[in-house]
Amino acid sequence: MFDRLSSLVIALTLVAIVAIFAALAGGDPLSIAMMLIAGFIAAGTVYGALPASLPDAQGSAPSAEAPQPVSLLRHPDFARLVDQEKDPLLGVADNIVTIANDAAIRLLGRHIVGADIRTAIRHPAAAEWLSRINDDGPLETINLVDFPRPGQRWTMRIAVLSGGQRIIVLSDHSAIDAADRMRSDFVANASHELRTPLAAILGYVETLQDMNGDTDAPTRSRFLAIIEREAGRMQQLVIDLLSISRVEADRFRRPTTPVDFTAIVRGTIAQLKDSEAARPIDIVAKLGDEKQPILGDEAQLGQLAHNIISNAMKYGRAGTPVTVELAREGRRVRLSVSDEGDGIAPDHLPRLTERFYRVDEARSRSVGGTGLGLAIVKHISERHQGQLDIESELGKGTKVSVTFPLAG
Ligand code: ADP
Repeated sequence: MFDRLSSLVIALTLVAIVAIFAALAGGDPLSIAMMLIAGFIAAGTVYGALPASLPDAQGSAPSAEAPQPVSLLRHPDFARLVDQEKDPLLGVADNIVTIANDAAIRLLGRHIVGADIRTAIRHPAAAEWLSRINDDGPLETINLVDFPRPGQRWTMRIAVLSGGQRIIVLSDHSAIDAADRMRSDFVANASHELRTPLAAILGYVETLQDMNGDTDAPTRSRFLAIIEREAGRMQQLVIDLLSISRVEADRFRRPTTPVDFTAIVRGTIAQLKDSEAARPIDIVAKLGDEKQPILGDEAQLGQLAHNIISNAMKYGRAGTPVTVELAREGRRVRLSVSDEGDGIAPDHLPRLTERFYRVDEARSRSVGGTGLGLAIVKHISERHQGQLDIESELGKGTKVSVTFPLAG
């Protein structure tokens, strides 16, 4: 079709031809002049109304006026995306860092913008991969071990764009690695804890078999008592391991059942007094008659009270009181359990809720401890929005307390 200028020329030519024919036909000169002026005005109006570039047969604009492709790294939307990304992100053109978000600058330093990417990310695996990458290379994830500091691990992902441009994203995997390490340490510790009593049981069973019935009755009953004690230790460990995994699985499920904490603590004390636990007569209960309504899991709260009170009974001096108290503190209720024992040195306090952490391993074992009691208490407390505090004075005793929000 015609473009805008050709249309104007054709229109003017037609006006001129009509005017010439009119003159040859002997038309009135004034009418011919008027017709010429009207024709020129009409052609000018049509010219102004036409679009600057008429579409061609396919409907697209002529190539001379097509927009040039914009580089993704320079696009304003890309800059916005880079700023919103939490992980370190860099845009690289011809190996030079052209754009980096705050996270990248915090990790690698402000100097990286304008620097060669191989000097910005100083790691042998990164340098090696960046120098051999080509435009149609696969998108790989590279492990940066001991980056930026020993013991840490980051990964690097690269998206290859056209024209020597790349987008690089780094992610921190150190916390995931630490959680994996903790999990495998836990399995190793649990296996070790089970292996010790199991070895004792097997040893004594073998000795009894070797003696082939030649043992005197007192020796046999002593060996059987050891086997029973070690089997009991294993059983308690399995019970605690199951508890901790159940409590951990429930961690993010807030309890919704209204329960009376006073009744739960009273029930736990009654249970302990009935059991074979040493020194039940030393328990001094100051629970009051008031109900303490909280949203909770009855069995778990009973276990929390049981673990704290039985620790005070295990580690307090025989014949001294184990005081169990309930008290309201504003919109919370506090359970505190105090004993008069050897106490705990301050440097151990922050670690007591770690699984299998014991101040004195031999002492814990001798009183039937598994090293999991306070770890279970911590998890149950967290699930119930509790606050756990342990205060202790060497030579005087320990006070473990936990507060929970009251319901309603
Ligand atoms: P355990 O089964 O060994 O008692 P816990 O997780 O209940 O394990 O407690 C961890 C460690 O904290 C115990 O081994 C003990 O050393 C210390 N501990 C806990 N409660 C008391 C307490 N009331 N007095 C002194 N030490 C305590």
